[in-house]
Amino acid sequence: MDKPHFYSLPKLPYGYKELAPFMSEEQLRIHHEKHHQAYVTGANALFEKLEQARKAGGELDMKAALKELSFHIGGHLLHGLFWENLAPAGKGGGGKPAGVLGAAIDKEFGGFERFQKEFTQAAVSAEGSGWAVLSWCRMSNRPLVMQIEKHNVDVCPAFPVLLALDVWEHAYYLDYRNMRAKFVEAFWNIVNWAEANRRFTALLKSAAA
Ligand code: MN
Repeated sequence: MDKPHFYSLPKLPYGYKELAPFMSEEQLRIHHEKHHQAYVTGANALFEKLEQARKAGGELDMKAALKELSFHIGGHLLHGLFWENLAPAGKGGGGKPAGVLGAAIDKEFGGFERFQKEFTQAAVSAEGSGWAVLSWCRMSNRPLVMQIEKHNVDVCPAFPVLLALDVWEHAYYLDYRNMRAKFVEAFWNIVNWAEANRRFTALLKSAAA
């Protein structure tokens, strides 16, 4: 069977009500069903547009098309990572990183609390719409806290994302209004460290292969 040539909205690994009270059902549902879906739809529409232009042999504004494409693909990719690195509080959500990721964080940041502080500041201070991520630099073998603007600016393709936090207003406004710091504080109760550690372990394995 042919592999799919278009993107589709992934199912959440938990129910819409399960991240409450840290993320309400209404907030999660609109974020997943409306906002994430819009990036999936947008990326697929760009594929169609490129295909039509290729068939017709017509001119295309490549700069504009690629900017839009990277925006939607980045949005789709990051939201997929974000949903997977959340879990209901007490049922996989919250706590501290363990395993190889816990050790790497301790080594780089001198402890979990310092990492948490730096990641929180990255999230709270992201200008406008953006993300805070924990990534891994394969050249220096260090975990790095990074900010991503919108969905696509400052994304380094060679820096895999271990943990993502969406701080666009659409991610928290229904629950927290303008208080992004409250949302970031709540995130620590639903962060799925096992998933982040799984990503890191898979990455180390693939690098060693
Ligand atoms: Mn979002």
